[in-house]
Amino acid sequence: MHEASLVMAMGEEIARLAKEQGAKKVLRVVVSFGQWSGIEKEAFCFAFEAFKKDSPLFKEADLEIELIPAVYFCPLCQQEFSPEEAPLCPRCKLPGLPSKGGELEIKKVEFLVED
Ligand SMILES: [Zn+2]
Repeated sequence: MHEASLVMAMGEEIARLAKEQGAKKVLRVVVSFGQWSGIEKEAFCFAFEAFKKDSPLFKEADLEIELIPAVYFCPLCQQEFSPEEAPLCPRCKLPGLPSKGGELEIKKVEFLVED
């Protein structure tokens, strides 16, 4: 469960932000990751739903995922390419190295701050 650990790490990061801002609830979380980052969108949503149940802070949070078309870099011909299917270099057919748009990123978090 790769996605579950990512959600946990994300949850910790957001909980830290919430504490800093004195927020009581998380309303919305926007994250992005690359299309070929190895993160399954559905598994990520599923992991987030499971995480919400155990976390009062996230109980009402909506999750939004932006998939980024990833850019890869071929180590052989030194070219960047955006794979449409598997991340293989269109010229050498070698597996490319992720160049941009790979990692999970927290783009935006909306909190409810009570006064
Ligand atoms: Zn190549």
